[in-house]
Amino acid sequence: MNKKNPKGKLGKPKIRRIWRRNPVTKIKESGKIYKRKKWLNCSDDEEKELDLTKDLEKTYRYCPRCGAEMVEKDVDHKKRKVCPVCKFIFYHNPVPAAGVVIEKEGKILLVKRKYEPYKADWCLPAGFMEYDESPEQCAIRETKEELNLKVKLTGLFGVYSGKDDPRTHAVLVMYWAEVIGGKPKPGDDAEEIRYFGKNEVPDNIAFLAHRQIIKEFFEIKLAESNE
Ligand SMILES: [Zn+2]
Repeated sequence: MNKKNPKGKLGKPKIRRIWRRNPVTKIKESGKIYKRKKWLNCSDDEEKELDLTKDLEKTYRYCPRCGAEMVEKDVDHKKRKVCPVCKFIFYHNPVPAAGVVIEKEGKILLVKRKYEPYKADWCLPAGFMEYDESPEQCAIRETKEELNLKVKLTGLFGVYSGKDDPRTHAVLVMYWAEVIGGKPKPGDDAEEIRYFGKNEVPDNIAFLAHRQIIKEFFEIKLAESNE
């Protein structure tokens, strides 16, 4: 029996610094309100957005399947978060996305983003794949949702790695597409739609991969005009 705790009573539990009640997230089902106090060692700025791109520390802390605290383990030659209870392994994979390059008289169609990340910047029509989709289906659906345009894919433009999206790393599959129906109208995530010529492309292009695609598009157009 030690001096600090002469009666052998259990001390106060240590303050856990994971969640505290505060008006940030209201859970609809239970009506409870939560705010994340600290996400391990990241700053308040980083806390605003759940950033899965940096390191393992900032990914899941609790098993998304059973809720137990995850531990780091070497699995398949890499440190991964593993659930000691249900053995769930969190493979931190990039997320596939697909989009389209639509051309009209040598111009390329771009979309002004309505939401973060990169709100009000321009990008190509593209989006993340649903679990039950193929990349082709995803590209066609995203074009319909964002532009109200029905398209036919006419070929593969290229495959790109997207590492500057704060939500996740992406693998972007881009197709050439031809409009076969519908009138362009900004949809779900779009504020404005416009075709841009080589010298009209705005500076604020949302993603590095999209900048690369636009650059390649005009290089292809230039090569074609020189043929
Ligand atoms: Zn688990």
